[in-house]
Amino acid sequence: MVTANQFDYVIAGGGLQGSLLAFAISRLQPSAQVLLVEKQSQFCGNHTWSFHRSDLSDTTWEWFSELVDRQWDGYHVELGGVTRHIPIGYGSIFSDRLNQKLQTLRDNSDNLTTLSGSVRQLEERSLSLDTGERINGTAVLDCRGLRQGNSSMPRSGFQKFVGLEVELEEDWIADTPCLMDDRVEQTDGFRFIYTLPLTARRLLVEDTRFSNSRALNRDACREVISRYLKERGFANYRVVREETGCLPMPYQRGSLPSQMSVGYRGGFFHPATGYSIPLVANLANQIASSAAADAAMVIAEYRNRMRFQTTFSLWLNRLLFQLVTPTQRLQIFRRFYSKLPAETIQRFYALQFTATDAARIFLGRPPMGLTPLRFLQSFREKPCPAFPT
Ligand SMILES: Cc1cc2nc3c(=O)[nH]c(=O)nc-3n(C[C@H](O)[C@H](O)[C@H](O)COP(=O)(O)OP(=O)(O)OC[C@H]3O[C@@H](n4cnc5c(N)ncnc54)[C@H](O)[C@@H]3O)c2cc1C
Repeated sequence: MVTANQFDYVIAGGGLQGSLLAFAISRLQPSAQVLLVEKQSQFCGNHTWSFHRSDLSDTTWEWFSELVDRQWDGYHVELGGVTRHIPIGYGSIFSDRLNQKLQTLRDNSDNLTTLSGSVRQLEERSLSLDTGERINGTAVLDCRGLRQGNSSMPRSGFQKFVGLEVELEEDWIADTPCLMDDRVEQTDGFRFIYTLPLTARRLLVEDTRFSNSRALNRDACREVISRYLKERGFANYRVVREETGCLPMPYQRGSLPSQMSVGYRGGFFHPATGYSIPLVANLANQIASSAAADAAMVIAEYRNRMRFQTTFSLWLNRLLFQLVTPTQRLQIFRRFYSKLPAETIQRFYALQFTATDAARIFLGRPPMGLTPLRFLQSFREKPCPAFPT
């Protein structure tokens, strides 16, 4: 139950998008009244969210940097027996720390109100809770994340992973993240290990696959991680946290989101990488930099600006998940990281690539057997081809 009934911003869902919006508004419009409604007992879930520094505009960075827990000057990839250092800044946010920061903000200001409850319905200027309570807002933003069990879900491949945060007995071998290391058995699609050295002895290590199926055997993933660490001389470690995800990588547009849907539900995620921060942080910045009454217009303009990049990314996913075999999938990533300049890679991750970048990303791919007829056939309604794994 909230005592006030009218807010400038009412935010449904306190995950990544909702939390960043609440934080950005508190920094950029300190007098605006914000209500954040979340159905879980704490905001933000259980994640480590990473991003490229170049994903964020300078004005976004002014407030976003307060939330960043860890930063590196660059990272590396290990693909096809070749190591490449990529000099693009990389960073991470820990969801439990973001949750704490929001609580501090709420406790120390009169402008942020939080409510634990489940939103039943949103309308243009109000929302109602499962309890029947109705709350009004000038801007009512839907940040309720991925719609579960939605039958109209677009056709999609999946980026799925299990990540273990481990405490090692000795210092880890690298002080920069490794975004992809393909020195693991290639089963269930393209598979790689991701490592994030949070401190010298604290490591987030993930077994990740770009697969046509959602199914994920967590025990098998833990086993692969254990072998990977052991082969590098780290047989002994203590698991302090585990996270798991299955992010859709669609190759077809979903139904049009409602005007005030943002975050994942509103299509604000990178279809070809699964990263959301490039979009949700910059969108939060733009909404928070405008009047609440203009939020719908700001969202529509942002969506229009990324139309070309989104369409091309969906097309890339079609190529990855419908038109090439898992072996060729691996070659696509090897080529991406061995041939493309760092500037193209950075614009690609930020979903700000140009038509020239798109041509560069595509030209020279190994589309064996990718005839125009095969491409057209891929649009027909049929399930993903079952490639041997
Ligand atoms: C393990 C994992 C690691 C990831 N790592 C990265 C990464 O490194 N970088 C990156 O950019 N992205 C990453 N992602 C993807 C990113 O987390 C999501 O794309 C992002 O969280 C989407 O933000 P959102 O706010 O739209 O949805 P969510 O973060 O899912 O938030 C939705 C919120 O709405 C709440 N909610 C739902 N229904 C209701 C209701 N009826 N009433 C009230 N509240 C409701 C939910 O409880 C939830 O808290 C990762 C995802 C996972 C699962």
